[in-house]
Amino acid sequence: MITEALYLEDSYLKECDAKVVSVKNGKCIVLDRTVFYPKGGGQPCDTGKIKKEDQTYNVVYVGKFSGEISHEVDRIGLREGDRVHCVLDWDRRYKLMRSHTAAHVFASLLCDDTGALVTGNQLEEDKVRFDFSLEAFDRDVLVEYTNKANEMFKKDVLVEWYELPREEALRIQGVVKMAEAFPPNIPRLRIVEVVGVDKQADGGTHVKNLREVGQIALLKVENKGKHNRRVYFELL
Ligand SMILES: [Zn+2]
Repeated sequence: MITEALYLEDSYLKECDAKVVSVKNGKCIVLDRTVFYPKGGGQPCDTGKIKKEDQTYNVVYVGKFSGEISHEVDRIGLREGDRVHCVLDWDRRYKLMRSHTAAHVFASLLCDDTGALVTGNQLEEDKVRFDFSLEAFDRDVLVEYTNKANEMFKKDVLVEWYELPREEALRIQGVVKMAEAFPPNIPRLRIVEVVGVDKQADGGTHVKNLREVGQIALLKVENKGKHNRRVYFELL
């Protein structure tokens, strides 16, 4: 059964009611609907709690397996058919939404100007690792793009998400920034648009306005071979 992924529509939803569809190994819980984001696309999974009456189960991992979203909890006790209430660790999720949105803006500014290609992207709670391929390499250039991104985060720029038919979506220039992360073979793709800045095929969670990102700081720049660069930045 495909879990209804409520975070795709509304990334600000912090809680929901749900029903337990199946339980594997006592601790892996599939729900009919969820607010928990499963690990994927460079974004870590959410954590939080699943509550059943006065019992609380801590969600330690969330993964997606052929459309089923499985929540690993810290102890056994939940059963098929149970009515439960899901509560996100919202502080963590909100930071991930901010850093994820920051990564879009940084990547788009850098790639549009320099022709750099994104080769990897890993979010942590308040830190982003970003890998790209670029021959000419200069720390000052990256400082400059960090500053440019920070200027963007002072503006009321909206971030929107919607679905498009696959063929139409793939005609958008730059919609797929990472070759390895080519979108799944499904008829409609979810597009995340930083209005006027960037459009990407993307299943993650983002903030609705660039002002919510705050500011970022460049932490570290590494050379990983002839063309491969790695930068880390953090949310301030
Ligand atoms: Zn994204």
